[in-house]
Amino acid sequence: MEINEKTRAGKHLTELLVKTYTDIHTRAAAGAFVVWGAIIVPAEIFAGFDNVVFCAPESHAAVCAAKGVGAAQCLKAESLGYSMDLCSYARIDIGCFSDGCKESPTMGLPRPHLLISNTNNCSLLVKWFDVHRRDMDIPHFILDVPFCYGPQQEKDRDYILTQFGDLIQTVERLSGQTFDRDRFYEAAAHTASASMDWKRFMACAEHRPSGITVFDSFVQMAPFLIARGTPELAAHYKILADETEANVKAGIFPVPDEKYRLLWDNIAPWHQLRKMSTRLAGMGANIVAAPYTSCIGAVEGSYDLLSFDENDDPLWYLARVQNHSVCPMGMDLRLSSMGPVIEKLGIDGVVFASNRSCKVFSVMQMDEQRRVREQYDIPCVMIDVDHADVRKFSQENVYVRLEALLESIEAKRASAVSG
Ligand code: SF4
Repeated sequence: MEINEKTRAGKHLTELLVKTYTDIHTRAAAGAFVVWGAIIVPAEIFAGFDNVVFCAPESHAAVCAAKGVGAAQCLKAESLGYSMDLCSYARIDIGCFSDGCKESPTMGLPRPHLLISNTNNCSLLVKWFDVHRRDMDIPHFILDVPFCYGPQQEKDRDYILTQFGDLIQTVERLSGQTFDRDRFYEAAAHTASASMDWKRFMACAEHRPSGITVFDSFVQMAPFLIARGTPELAAHYKILADETEANVKAGIFPVPDEKYRLLWDNIAPWHQLRKMSTRLAGMGANIVAAPYTSCIGAVEGSYDLLSFDENDDPLWYLARVQNHSVCPMGMDLRLSSMGPVIEKLGIDGVVFASNRSCKVFSVMQMDEQRRVREQYDIPCVMIDVDHADVRKFSQENVYVRLEALLESIEAKRASAVSG
């Protein structure tokens, strides 16, 4: 299998994304209640209503960046006075909607009735959604998720659960629809099943050579952002995991000549996926994992799946994973989720991608790099990227550093051989 060759799961992903965005527009045009939510907002809740459509502006911005129209949208936001220092997801979204989403690969998102942001990842997101609240004069619900330095505390979980209850009541009041617990339970079960298959897919990186690249996981995480709680989500990840495991058994690998196994720390560089995966493969390097994607289905500070069975309360389960992404946790938890990945996957080196947009993800990386070097004795490199604004990405600077990382790995191997 050539790197970038489309697999069955790749084709299925394209069909699923097209269908999901088409359905969003069709249902909205037919009168559905439309919610725009931050990606960590538990979208399963909306499946508990008859006719509520969930849209994720962050994911839409990532699609724009991956399809090469991110910088053009950023420019539109900047021409309105928004600073180039703001997160490129926000600039893409604001720029895109400033002219009716003329260049959006998904025809934009339907006009919302309710905005739901949260404080899990960053405070910028609340401000960004508030721009839409002012422009569209619609309600804005803010889910306040406490930052954690250790395992999520029960009092914090109770606080989150109270807000979930308020959110359900708010949607009932604004949409005139009634929340159906049974449908919500089914939706949570679909997500839990998808998470199990996601972990099965991610585990294919344990093989040498790896059964996946991180670029596969970046691309394949999209349904988790826009189709959570659906049977299609669960079906897709089963196809993905089955096919990837079968490829590993059959000896089919994305980087067969894998000499260097790397870890990526930060959000995906959406505008570089194909270029970077191809160029790295040519050097025998495979970035096999990233905490950004391995954290899905886990809790803060962990790589392992949080199990969910039919007797569990889905609201409890969804509240428990509210700190799962890397931003709402402190340094020790970050390292405790990264450590098992380094050991289990036999990582040779770590690429810390300092992200000009996402300060909250990047601010700890210097210390994180130092501690990874000390604890695991592996080479690391820091590169400058912006996840969605290609104007802040210098290809040659980045590859000079990546090549230096590979040389450091070689030097370490040579010194191990010479004793
Ligand atoms: S700054 Fe980071 S966490 Fe905040 S919206 Fe942008 S990418 Fe997400």
